[in-house]
Amino acid sequence: MQLGVFVSLEDGPRVMAHVRELGFATCQVGCWNTARMTQEAARELRQSADAAGVEITTLWAGAPGAYVWNFIDGPRSIGLVPPGTRTQRLEALKHGSDFACWVGLPSITTHVGFIPENPDDAQYAPVVAVLRDLAAHCQTNGQQFWFETGQETPITLLRTIQDIGLDNLGINLDPANLLLYGKGNPVDALDVFGPYVRGVHAKDGEYPTNGRELGQEKPLGQGRVNFPALLARLRTLGYAGALTIEREISGDQQIADIQAGKAFLERLLAEA
Ligand code: MG
Repeated sequence: MQLGVFVSLEDGPRVMAHVRELGFATCQVGCWNTARMTQEAARELRQSADAAGVEITTLWAGAPGAYVWNFIDGPRSIGLVPPGTRTQRLEALKHGSDFACWVGLPSITTHVGFIPENPDDAQYAPVVAVLRDLAAHCQTNGQQFWFETGQETPITLLRTIQDIGLDNLGINLDPANLLLYGKGNPVDALDVFGPYVRGVHAKDGEYPTNGRELGQEKPLGQGRVNFPALLARLRTLGYAGALTIEREISGDQQIADIQAGKAFLERLLAEA
């Protein structure tokens, strides 16, 4: 398992060199701004990644409109679940897939939202249909579509993947998100959807302690994720993808936490 770091397309032209300077050979690139995803930007990203010797494992694509990361406004604002923004966001994510194709990337990843737990919910079938449309578009670009874990339970995610029924679907496991959203223990989640995991965010955090707000994200090794057990389970599943460190703060402390997280993971991988 190679280590990586999560960066943004909007971090500027030196972002790939910065990934290499931090000591990583892989990264995921996030972008929420569709207007930034031009053919020229794709050419520049490809050239700078090649020059730095960095492998980009996925484009983490956001979509327009407000996303609110809590339990009250989240279900009506995140991803492809809210019907009012669904068509606009589908088109934006298809554009993200096209951009990833121009860069030559093997997958795109996104949060699809609070997928209904009940398969009889009136929104479940339309959500499956829009995801099938998006994943089919990725397939024509020779890509996989990866679900970022978070807003849904592991069994709902597995059911959704099975109901979409395409063979280019995978999961970007964010173990902290399963805790932050109170949706499951990330190690146990691998018993449910483990064979679908194609990417992993190395992120840590705590369970929520009230019914409205997510649990708190923490620096790697300081939260509730049992990384020794998680890495051991990923290894038995034959996972050979990247461990991409994601620290959702900014500034000098983010860099310090990423460096400490890298040392933490290197120690665990060496012990194993
Ligand atoms: Mg994540």
